[in-house]
Order: sequence, then structure tokens, then C-alpha cells
Amino acid sequence: MAKKSIKGQIGVTTENIFPVIKQFLYSDREIFLRELVANAVDATQKLKALASSGDFKGELGDGMQVRIELDTKAKTLKVIDSGIGMTEDEVDRYINQIAFSSAGEFLEKYKDQIGGIIGHFGLGFYSAFMVSKKVTIDTLSWKEDAKAVQWSCDGSPEYEMGASKKSSRGTEITLYFDKDAEEYNDEGRIRGLLEKYCKFMPVPIVFGKEKEWKDGKYVETDKDNIINKTEPLWTRTPSDLKDEDYMKFYRDLYPMNEDPLFYIHLNVDYPFNLTGILYFPKIKERMAVERNKISLYCNQMFVTDHVDNIVPDFMTLLHGVIDSPDIPLNVSRSYLQSDENVKKISGYITKKVADRLEEIFRDQRPVLESKWDNLKLFIEYGMITDEKFCDRAVKFALLKNTDGKFFSFDEYHAAVADTQTDKDKKAVYLYATDTEAQYPFIEEAKNKGYDVLLMDCELDAHYVNLLERKLENVRFARVDSDGVDRLIPKEERVKPEMSENDRNDLSAVFKAVLPSGNEYIVEGDNLGENESPILITQNEFMRRYRDMSALGGGMNFYGEMPASYNITVNMENPLVARIVTAMKDKVEALPAEADDEKKKDHEAALTDFAKGNEMLKQITDLALLANGMLKGKALSDFIARSQKVVNDAYAK
Ligand code: ADP
Repeated sequence: MAKKSIKGQIGVTTENIFPVIKQFLYSDREIFLRELVANAVDATQKLKALASSGDFKGELGDGMQVRIELDTKAKTLKVIDSGIGMTEDEVDRYINQIAFSSAGEFLEKYKDQIGGIIGHFGLGFYSAFMVSKKVTIDTLSWKEDAKAVQWSCDGSPEYEMGASKKSSRGTEITLYFDKDAEEYNDEGRIRGLLEKYCKFMPVPIVFGKEKEWKDGKYVETDKDNIINKTEPLWTRTPSDLKDEDYMKFYRDLYPMNEDPLFYIHLNVDYPFNLTGILYFPKIKERMAVERNKISLYCNQMFVTDHVDNIVPDFMTLLHGVIDSPDIPLNVSRSYLQSDENVKKISGYITKKVADRLEEIFRDQRPVLESKWDNLKLFIEYGMITDEKFCDRAVKFALLKNTDGKFFSFDEYHAAVADTQTDKDKKAVYLYATDTEAQYPFIEEAKNKGYDVLLMDCELDAHYVNLLERKLENVRFARVDSDGVDRLIPKEERVKPEMSENDRNDLSAVFKAVLPSGNEYIVEGDNLGENESPILITQNEFMRRYRDMSALGGGMNFYGEMPASYNITVNMENPLVARIVTAMKDKVEALPAEADDEKKKDHEAALTDFAKGNEMLKQITDLALLANGMLKGKALSDFIARSQKVVNDAYAK
């Protein structure tokens, strides 16, 4: 049986697998270490399983660890385990005939789709060649009478196999770094990779010795330095854990972040395996939300921070870890989305997140309210983008009014339905987006006994539309989009009778004194003798579309249009009545048969009249001021004019 040394061809199905591996995975070649350590961990766990089933009766020894040894002088890296090892036969089967293993099949199948390939798949043992000019395996199987085997290969499809000096059970892989991979011949770099990929692997991984300060120097002790936590929090039973444990784990994961708002422990084993912990982060600057803070693990082995095709879009705002052996890693991203398991997983996570929020709503309402401002972006985003989540969220989502009071949707409806239902039997929910700028309108609505919601989140323009679709017989109206009586019309209102010419004249006169650059729709209405002479509002729907297109809602047509305002002239106000009378005195009515020339003259006469009428300018400026629209020269003219009016009134 003394086969001293044999040579052979690796049974790959591609012409030559090594150039392929190198080329495909160049950008991601650091995963070689993860793959080798994962194999070593696997082999170790398999032996433990054999021991507990009684198949393996020997000593496990206290060295059931994986050791990583870097020799920077020799430019070699060793990954050593004391797991099951391999017999010569197994090396031949698992390593030589790699056409049978996943790596060979995978490369064969996807070799034409370089671009679509996700870098994170189990390329396995052969990824070692991405960084090595030569790789050797020394291995001794756990099986009785097994002989140690050495396999080595210099990156050509030829290998050598023969006896090894290895005397202890397990496998030792040695990489001889390639010239173009010497960046890995560095302790810091290897430590970094172990931290990234192996931090939570289930078998202790030893790299170097622990260090300590001694006599002013940072020196190595003789204690092995274990780089991983073999039982990360998500693998433990939720009922054994306290809030503090979850907070501590979050701090370990994201040392720079503030404490999260809530956490969710995921734990399912049917119809797929998935564990994990998700956190709702405290979002400070809402627009600068960090995505891709969820790490995906596969049996405690780090795979990727990019879970965008695995969890619903809005969930990428969450932080934490997901661990599932059932997420296929060796397929392209576009394929992932249509994978049945992935769909189920995504649905499950959505459901769990909704369950947890509903539970908090039910049992910890004050906590939910106190954190709502930080949470609401997430919930609104979820509701807008995920129908299923939305249907759940209408039960626990909160509305906040301008006094800072919170309501569920049902509670709010009960609170305002009596007073705020209009003549068409729709409950009108008034809202403000800026309590400072819209202060006069909010006050006016409140004086009427109405409630005003606060909708100051970036997404609220979309959110309001969504709620109108979801909530039956509810209409939203921004508090400054019309006069308070017309926001919630209780009965058909009688409009003043005006001829078309009168209406045109009124429009021309007001447009002459309003700031240019905007669109105005001027309209006469009866608002009552004691109400303001004019009211400037922005049409609810036009404004909403403009807001949404500013957010990138695909409605650019509206975004490019000038702002449009409704100018409501209160025909019952005595000042307005005086202006109309003065206008009719000054400017002759336009005869019915007037030609274009006459029309032009008429308009010019109206403009002249308007520009010379102080009272008209004063009431218009006051309305502009109430809307924060009076600026620059117009503002200083207004102040000067007001000063004069005050002087005239009091000097007498
Ligand atoms: P995969 O791990 O995806 O099966 P690999 O190419 O990484 O593919 O490994 C092929 C096979 O070689 C493994 O399935 C295992 O049987 C064997 N093997 C690799 N590394 C070790 C090891 N350290 N100890 C024992 N067996 C190993």
C-alpha cells in the first residue's frame, strides 16, 4: 500500500479552474480565509457529533479549536483543526474531483455571467488559490488505522499526493502567499479578516497570544488569543435573556451608535431555519439614514452586509443580524428575489416586526409614544412600500397632533368625527407641516374647536395620500390650504353673484399687487363681514403633488410648474366693498363689444388703479405677511406704509 507519491489531474469540468477562480473573484478574494476556517469549523463539529453519537470513541482532547498561524517570514498561513480529517480516499473524492463539489459545479454553471454573480458563495477550499501560489493539505482522519496524507498543488491543474508526517488527528492547510497577495502576509490584515468573517463562528478560533501591559510595554502572554464568541446572543433562548443583554449586544455590534429603540428576537425552525436579532435604530438625521446595517450569517459565519434582496426594502433601515442556512448564497441577486425560501423569509420577518410593534403598542403605549418621533419614518416608509405591513400597521401606527398628543387611527376618528365631518359625510383631518409658519391657521382651526395633526416628516406627502386610500371616508386637508370654514364645509355655501367682467376686473386688480412669478386664481366669496378681506391659500392637491415630486415621486410635471395660490376675496368685508366702489368710479366698465385694443387699455387702467390704491396694497400685504410670503422691497414698502397709517391714526 506504499504509494509513495502520485501525480494526477484535478477533475475539473472547466478547462482550467484556477484562472477562472482568480479572475471571477479578484475583488472579493479575501473570503478565502472565511472558507478555510468554515471548513475547519465544520470538520471540528462533525467530530463532536460523531463523539456524541458514540461513533467516535477516542479522546476529543482539549484542543477542539481552530488555529490560525501566520508566518510572515516564510510568507505562509496555516489553518489547523483537530476535526475529522480526511483519508487518502476522501482527499481524492472531495478535493481532486472537485467537479462533484459545489465550487466546480457552480463555476461551470455561471461561467458566462460574470456580472451577475454574487461574490459571496461557498467557493470552498479552492478559493485558497486566489491568494496562493501553492497550497498543501496535511490531514489525518479520525478513522482507525488511517494514514496521514499530504496533498499539494501549485496552482496548475496538477497535484501531488503522498504520505504526510502529520501525527495528530485533523487537517492542516498551508497557503504559500502569491506575490500579488502579499497584503495578506500581515498580522493586522488577517486579524481584521477574522474579526469580519469569523467573529461569531461556533468553535473557538485561536490567532496569536493575548497581550497585556507589563512594565510599560504591551507584551504577549502565554494565553491563546481567541478571536470569536462561540455563542452569540441570537443563538440563545429568548426567555433566558434580559433587555440589557440585547442592548449590550447592540453596543458590541455598533460601538459608535446610540442605543436602539426596540429589538426583536427572530427564531423559527419551520418551514425554514432562521434566527437573528433586529434593532430599530434611533434615527437622528432622518434623511441620512444608514442602510445595510443588517449582517447576514449562515450558521454563524458572516456572509454579507447586503441583505437588500432578502428583507423588504424598508427593513434595510433596521440594524442587527440574521442567520439562516436556508438563504441560497450561491446565486445571483436578481435570482434571489424570486427564490421561494427568500420570499417566505421576507414575509416572516415583516410579520415578526409587525407583531412586535403591535405588542409594544398594546403593553407599552407610553414607551411607544415617547419613541414615536424616531420610529415614525420607519413605520411610514414600511406602510407606503409594503402592503402587508401597512395592513398590520394601521392597528398600531400613531398620529400626533400639534399639541403633542398621540392617537391611534381609531382613537383619532372617534375624537374628531363629530366636529370635523363635512357636508359630504367625510371626516376631514386637518394637518400642519410646520407649526411656526402655519401658526395663524392652526390657531384659527383650534378656535373653531378643530384638531390639527402634525405631519412634518419627509414622507408625509406620500403618507397622507396612502391614508386617504386606507381609511374610509377620511380626507386630509392642510390647515393653510383654505379658510377654516371652507376646509370643512358644513353646508352648501352661497357664492356672491358676479358677472364675468366683474370677476375679471377683480382678478386683474389683485394680480397687479401680488408678487410676480407665481400663479394666482382670484375668486370672490362671502366669508362674513368681520372676517379678513383676503385669504391666500395653496391648493391642497397641487401642493401635495409638488411636495411629492420634490421627494422624487415620479411627478416631475408638477414639480416644474410655478407655485399656484388661491386668492379668496371676501366680498362682504367693508374694505373690499370700498375698493370695488373706487375701482368702478375710476375705471370704466368694459363694453360688451370691446376689441383687443380696448381690452388692453382697460387692463392697463385697472393696473394703474391697483398700483395707486394704498388700501388695496395694505390688505394684500397683510395677507402675504400671514403666509410668510412678504419679502425684500415689498416688505420694507409695507413697513413704511404701515408706519404712515399708524402716524395718521394716532397723530390726530
Ligand atoms: P464544501 O465545503 O462547499 O463542500 P470545499 O471545496 O470547501 O467545499 O470542500 C470540499 C470537501 O472537502 C468538504 O465537503 C469536506 O468533505 C472536505 N474538507 C475540506 N476541508 C476540510 C477539513 N479542514 N477537514 C476535513 N474535511 C475537509
